[in-house]
Amino acid sequence: MSNPSKRDCKRALASWSCANDDCANKWTGLTWILIEKYRNRIPAQELVNGDYIQQKCKRCDNENNELTEYKPFVIEKLIYVDEVGGNKWYRVFGEWDCSNCEKGWTSSYTWISLQKYEDDIPASNLNSPADYFGQDCKDCDNADTKLVNYRHLFRRRNNKRKRPHLSNLCEKCKNRQAKCQQHGSY
Ligand SMILES: [Zn+2]
Ligand SMILES: [Zn+2]
Ligand SMILES: [Zn+2]
Repeated sequence: MSNPSKRDCKRALASWSCANDDCANKWTGLTWILIEKYRNRIPAQELVNGDYIQQKCKRCDNENNELTEYKPFVIEKLIYVDEVGGNKWYRVFGEWDCSNCEKGWTSSYTWISLQKYEDDIPASNLNSPADYFGQDCKDCDNADTKLVNYRHLFRRRNNKRKRPHLSNLCEKCKNRQAKCQQHGSY
């Protein structure tokens, strides 16, 4: 079976083993696994060809290899351990909507529960304040807003201008010791 499309996959960190017995190369790397398999945490041993994008062995060029283990891919730097309650949050790129004035915005200082991120729970199933820090609407000053979508942050390119984070509208900035900007850039 052929590789699934990246669109249908979730990025994970996986361990591989070369299927060529004469080679026995092992490696770890970013790997794309079908979302439904990933969400249900189907063990690597039960995955079959077509459930993930294959990786070629760099030592012997063998095409089809064995995925032996995988786990969620997270970047340590984007994790925030809450000084209140000890919960872990993950910084993502979020799309927001205001329920009052219908305005929308995006924010690269959106924080959702690390567990929910790792489980790939869609934004529509997340609730504030349990699963993410709220952001107020800039246009109507309303707090009745909703996170409608999120994705992993892309690393910022130096030439790209940074949009200021509006701390006065952010529940994390307002209620926690460290302002979002103090977590550094990514
Ligand atoms: Zn090999
Ligand atoms: Zn609004
Ligand atoms: Zn903030």
